[in-house]
Amino acid sequence: MQTTSDFANLAEEVIARCRKLASFSEDAGGTRRTFLSAPMRDCHREIAGWLGSLGAQARVDAVGNLRGFYPGKSPGAPRILIGSHLDTVPNAGAFDGILGVVLAVGLLESLEGRKLPFGIEVIGFSEEEGVRFGVPFIGSRALVGRVDEELLARKDEHGVSVRKAIQDFGLNPNEISNSALSDDVLGYLEFHIEQGPVLDHLGRPLGVVEAIVGQNRLEFTFSGQANHAGTTPMNLRYDALAAAAEWIVAVEKLAQGTPGIVATVGFVEARPGATNVIAGEVRATLDIRHASDRARTEALEELIRQAESIAARRSVTVKWRTLLAQHAVAMEPFLTEQIEQAIQKAGCEPHRMASGAGHDAMILAEKIPAAMIFLRTPGGISHDPAESVHRDDVAKALECGRHLLTQLAASQEFLGRTCRA
Ligand SMILES: [Zn+2]
Repeated sequence: MQTTSDFANLAEEVIARCRKLASFSEDAGGTRRTFLSAPMRDCHREIAGWLGSLGAQARVDAVGNLRGFYPGKSPGAPRILIGSHLDTVPNAGAFDGILGVVLAVGLLESLEGRKLPFGIEVIGFSEEEGVRFGVPFIGSRALVGRVDEELLARKDEHGVSVRKAIQDFGLNPNEISNSALSDDVLGYLEFHIEQGPVLDHLGRPLGVVEAIVGQNRLEFTFSGQANHAGTTPMNLRYDALAAAAEWIVAVEKLAQGTPGIVATVGFVEARPGATNVIAGEVRATLDIRHASDRARTEALEELIRQAESIAARRSVTVKWRTLLAQHAVAMEPFLTEQIEQAIQKAGCEPHRMASGAGHDAMILAEKIPAAMIFLRTPGGISHDPAESVHRDDVAKALECGRHLLTQLAASQEFLGRTCRA
């Protein structure tokens, strides 16, 4: 498969497959597929069918990652991983994560049975978005040995723990250590939609990710005193919601005044949550990101100071806990350069960029060389049913992927890394 029209036809199929997977949903009216929910099973079955017909046997590991292995030329050949995640946010589009898995299947298809000096393991991570348990990357964490007892004990809104969710899906949480990366893995490649407006604005189909920004996610709890909204005078209140509101505006103001910082309070819950009751307790989340770890840490410390001072002035208390702390992660320079060349061979002008979103690639980068290719996101719209891709961009991504595989297969520098045994 080498011609432009071959890749265009395959791109058509990739898009149709993504749309089909989007129909496996927890919600009737839209796409929502969280960690080990029932529709994930349909998703696994469908992709395993595609993989099986290409000679890649698929299995589901103990944390629910779908893994299909396409063997290399010789039995002892090393492997590369290509994939992304299969879970979605609520009211999702059809391409975030899923496209990276389906593109990997498309790349196998484009090989038309040819074997390379390395095997290819297609991987569909079970959890990346953090929707069900408030903690992201459960799938890829298992590969680097970071699913611990604390994470397994974490509960969803129905009181079901991660451990129980795994058991309910028919998997054995005691076998999670078997999901870990084997010694024969050369690297990880992830295709993903950009989920932002940069490539669209530049008019370029593909980007190469140099680094993934660092981020913190925290939960703040403001505690005051719930009381009667009619009988409690304004000067004798300890209103947790008013304190949280003041802080939320401070978060926005600081981010607006600090170049490169993005900070968001995306969830607020007031208790008891009644029209005629002063809120006694408020939970609010904070998400803060920057490509520089130092700039991010300084901004976060300032926002914590401001929360404390606002709370003190209003005679309420504030506590916080960290849900996620992720430093900025560089993608591997050799692979990044190879991707840049492959993008050029596909006839596109590559664009080097940072990713403002976290991705499984940054988790895997802890242990193995990892790299990412971004696809232009029309209108920059993602995490929404309107999320889309251009067919020609998907064709270019496939073409780029094929060039990349050919380059890596011919690179002694790359293959020479394998001899770890
Ligand atoms: Zn994603």
